[in-house]
Amino acid sequence: MQRTMEDDDTLYLRGRVSKLYRKDGKVRVLGTDTLTGQNVEIDADMVVLALAMTPSKGTAEIAKTLKIGRDKDGFLAEAHPKLRPVESVTGGIYLAGAAQAPKDIPETVAQAGAAASKVIALLSQATLNRSPLIAKVRRSHCTGCGMCVEACPFFAIRLEGGKAIVNEALCEGCGSCSATCLRAAIDVKNVTQMQIHEMIEACLA
Ligand code: SF4
Ligand code: SF4
Repeated sequence: MQRTMEDDDTLYLRGRVSKLYRKDGKVRVLGTDTLTGQNVEIDADMVVLALAMTPSKGTAEIAKTLKIGRDKDGFLAEAHPKLRPVESVTGGIYLAGAAQAPKDIPETVAQAGAAASKVIALLSQATLNRSPLIAKVRRSHCTGCGMCVEACPFFAIRLEGGKAIVNEALCEGCGSCSATCLRAAIDVKNVTQMQIHEMIEACLA
């Protein structure tokens, strides 16, 4: 940008446009330079509007199919913007490009390379390690009501023989099932309801 300003005598303004209208064969642009606070009037040959980028039509469907979260603008959401920028919350699903947010080509290429590296690292392992924070059903307490099946966003629970069963490979340890079960028959390992109660009591003591 600096080189263009110096070599090509180009003027960049950071401003807010308040009005555009045709006048004497030109397009008159009215607005404010937000750095100097000055009002600006420009008679332009051409005005190019940069429209906001929105998620593509299939984004909602693919998010639902792959159980990937979406951000407030509807783009696919990463697991953590700084620590896990190319991973989705669903294990084994990685993000790259404008599906995640508006971005340019170099940024997309860099992110795609990072996602590919993650996939290679995942597939090059002889065995897959999962987080130990997964749900576990207390079968003696389970009535088979199915509420946890409905509550699980990752389709990790099914009913079998009148009891809930957790697919440990699909479980992401979100705890929705545990919060839903009226019988306290399902808990996330290492974060049981009893442990949470004790943590709260310790905090309040
Ligand atoms: S919500 Fe609780 S009682 Fe109902 S099926 Fe799930 S674990 Fe069993
Ligand atoms: S913790 Fe429960 S609701 Fe969450 S993914 Fe695992 S089984 Fe599903």
